[in-house]
Amino acid sequence: MDAKLAAAIAKDDELEDCGMHGDDRVTCWPHQCWVADCEDLH
Ligand SMILES: [Zn+2]
Repeated sequence: MDAKLAAAIAKDDELEDCGMHGDDRVTCWPHQCWVADCEDLH
């Protein structure tokens, strides 16, 4: 995992804790990747 992705995942986790809807994440927690890169898995 690259640092940019790791940072984005951490930020999404933080935003979700603050009330952001899970659908608004740009990263996928279960797959540890960008949502755009794993849409087929969902
Ligand atoms: Zn995914």
